[in-house]
Amino acid sequence: MPVCGAATGTGLVRVANEDSLVVGRRVFAVADGVGGHAAGDVASALVVSRLRRLGGRCDLEPADVLQALMSANADILAAVRGAAGLDGMATTVAGLGLVRVGGAEHWLVFNIGDSRVYRLMSGALVRMTADHSEVAELVSAGRITEEQARSHPRRNVLTRSLGTDPAPIADTWVFPPDAGERFLICSDGLTGELTEARIAAVLSGEPDVQRAADELVDAANAAGGRDNVTVVVVDVPLSWADRPADANDRTAPRPTLPEVSR
Ligand code: CA
Repeated sequence: MPVCGAATGTGLVRVANEDSLVVGRRVFAVADGVGGHAAGDVASALVVSRLRRLGGRCDLEPADVLQALMSANADILAAVRGAAGLDGMATTVAGLGLVRVGGAEHWLVFNIGDSRVYRLMSGALVRMTADHSEVAELVSAGRITEEQARSHPRRNVLTRSLGTDPAPIADTWVFPPDAGERFLICSDGLTGELTEARIAAVLSGEPDVQRAADELVDAANAAGGRDNVTVVVVDVPLSWADRPADANDRTAPRPTLPEVSR
C-alpha cells in the first residue's frame, strides 16, 4: 500500500485553519474552505467526511469518488440552507484515489478549485491538476506569468468550487501506479509561498514522507505563512512492482499524463 505523511498549519496571519485533509488507505485529499466567519472549515470538513466514508474499499471505482464529491456538494448546500452565517461557504478539493479500472489498480487524480496534486518521479516535479481560478485563466491566456499569479490581487477567486448549484464538474485523470513515484497534494497556502523549484527540492531531498510534509509546512511559514497550509505526501513504494500480475495488465487502459491547460 502507499505510505503517506501529512501536515497542516494555520500560518502566521490567519486566525483559523479552514483547510481539511484525509489520509485513508486508498483516498488522499486536501480541501481548502472559503467563507465568512470561518465557515470555510465547515465546508472543507464536509467534503473530507464524504471521502473518509469511502474507507479502505478495495473495489473503489472512479464513479464512487465522484459520487462522494457530488454528495459533499449537496451536504454543503444543505448546511447553508440550515444555518445562518454559512452563506457563501465553499471549498476546493484535490486528491488521489486508488481505484479499479479495467480489472487493475489505477490512480484517480481529481480536482475542483485551486488546491493541487503534483507527481515527483526521478527528481522531476509535474503538476497534475489545472487550477480553477481567475489567475489560472489569465496565465493560460498569456496575460500574466505564473510568478505574477502568485501575488495577483485576485489570486483567491475560484472559477469552480464545491458548494454551488448546479454542482461543479471535477477534473479527473486516471493512470497506473508506478513504483518509486511520489505525490504531493497541497492547498494554495503552500504554492502561494514556495516556488515549484523549492517544493521539488524539499520533496527530492527528504525520503521520509512525514518529515517531507512537515518541512514543506515549515518552509511555507518561514516564507510568510500568509494562508493556511496543508500538505499530504504519498509514496508508491518500490515493492509496488511485486503486485499481482493483473495489476500490471498491459491491456488495461494506459492513459498518458494529464493534459494541463496552461
Ligand atoms: Ca487557501
